[in-house]
Amino acid sequence: PLSSGTDEQQGIPASAFFRELSNTSVPLCVPFVIVGGGTAAWSALEVIYEKNPSAQVLVVTEEPYAPYNRTPLSKEMWSIPTVSVPNQWPNARAELEYKYHLPGQPETYRASILMNVSVTQLYPKENKIKLSNGMEVFYQKLLLATGGKPNVSELINNSSIDPSIHDSIITFRSISDFERLHNSFINPKYRNITILGGGFLGSELACSLQTRLNQEHERNKQVTLLCPEAGVLGKFLPRYLSDYITKQMRQHNVDVRPGVSVFDIVPTTSTDSSDETRIQLQLFGWKDKEHITDQVVIAVGITPRQELAEEAGLEMDPVAGGIRVNAAMQVEGNIYAAGDVASFWDRALGRRRVEHWDHAVVTGRIAGENMSGGHATYEWESMFWCDLVGLNISFEATGMIDASLRTIGVWNLKNTFRRGEFSDQDLNEGVVWYLRGNQVVGALLWNREGKGLDVARQVIGTKFQISSVQDLTNLIPVQDE
Ligand code: FAD
Ligand code: NAD
Repeated sequence: PLSSGTDEQQGIPASAFFRELSNTSVPLCVPFVIVGGGTAAWSALEVIYEKNPSAQVLVVTEEPYAPYNRTPLSKEMWSIPTVSVPNQWPNARAELEYKYHLPGQPETYRASILMNVSVTQLYPKENKIKLSNGMEVFYQKLLLATGGKPNVSELINNSSIDPSIHDSIITFRSISDFERLHNSFINPKYRNITILGGGFLGSELACSLQTRLNQEHERNKQVTLLCPEAGVLGKFLPRYLSDYITKQMRQHNVDVRPGVSVFDIVPTTSTDSSDETRIQLQLFGWKDKEHITDQVVIAVGITPRQELAEEAGLEMDPVAGGIRVNAAMQVEGNIYAAGDVASFWDRALGRRRVEHWDHAVVTGRIAGENMSGGHATYEWESMFWCDLVGLNISFEATGMIDASLRTIGVWNLKNTFRRGEFSDQDLNEGVVWYLRGNQVVGALLWNREGKGLDVARQVIGTKFQISSVQDLTNLIPVQDE
């Protein structure tokens, strides 16, 4: 399979792997240019160097870091004790850092990197990009691994927010965002942190933050999660699982308010003697019409960063969004795209776009392989995982995971099926199959540490059609413990 399988404990850290360029030392022409500082960029780079250790690669990222892994930002980064000491949290950065694993001397395969620089324009006919520092670079092969930008609703449009609370309303995607949120989190003046959105980011962050508060016996701080759905992760999970998570999060002390939308955010003054400025959220759909907080984290999805390709006239996906690539991750000619930004052709499931880590690895590697002259195509259905720290809930999934699809759950009830009502004990471990018509298009493995993923991939890859729900009973057996 085209997955990286790297051992995070060894290898050369990404920061040592790159040769940082100054604005004045940018080469005019480079064989491989990669735009982006995330997982897809890193994965493509790994393959390019596996194929040719003396390859010349330029990575351009607008972030002040070498490509890194975002996934610990909503999980592990909150549980590392050193992060509670300001200025010491960079010790924990190893959690985020990719490592390179080629044998031999690192000097022979150092890539060049431009940090704090963005690519502002793409000229496909001239094989050229323009950079924010005004320089231009010609490429032979180009990878667009630009990921996604956090959404902010009209309401939170920067210009409409009162300047006194502006800095306390953030999105969360990068190391810099982590630093900002962490500063608020450890500030005793911030008594409530409110997360807007009940998707993967909102649910993981709420659990991780609350777990820290529980561990530190901190009773003066509260984490609130507001989401428009009837329950947490309600956009992705069947209702009974979403209800179960919502209940578990409440038992964990997270103040979860489902079915809520926010229609205004204004400054307010603290009612106690401190007279401090706080933030008032005006709510629809909840018994309290107002909610007072000190920090708002907006986690309401992302929009693919396709603007470079779009302005250059390349093909977009009007349905799923993103840059349209074929199964080889090729946009056209010598331009490739991978990761969150790519709308790709999945042989089993058709055209789609996926916003998860393993997908960025798989597609980044395919792109890197093909940029190096290979012939890889997307055949290995990627997976994702979600960890709700402190709840003892984690799940892995592959294929299409969407609550609007029909689902069939197999739980540890001596392999009988139940639809609808479950007791909490029933939900220790199970498999949820997602169906489009009668075709199995997705599988979610609940508290199974990934056991059954290969079978699920096979079932999805062969476009398995069920004739009755019993067809799914023993595909991935769920043991009665
Ligand atoms: P990104 O990682 O977003 O990288 C894109 C990069 O391109 C960024 O560095 C950006 O600044 C840069 N860029 C964009 N435009 C330009 C430009 N014009 N010029 C220069 N640079 C540019 N997935 C899971 O499967 N499991 C998880 O547990 C999980 N946890 C997550 C936790 C968090 C907090 C977040 C934010 C995401 C998580 N994900 C998880 C999702 C996963 O991290 C993403 O799917 C993955 O990062 C996508 O990689 P990418 O390379 O496509 O994009
Ligand atoms: P998401 O797509 O997972 O969830 C979006 C959520 O935003 C919805 O479920 C809904 O609750 C909320 N929402 C949408 N419109 C809203 C509105 N107008 N007002 C209030 N709420 C609204 O996106 P996310 O949770 O923001 O995560 C960001 C990105 O990071 C996604 O690509 C996600 O896949 C990725 N991520 C993945 C993982 C994981 O795979 N374990 C973890 C964290 C983040």
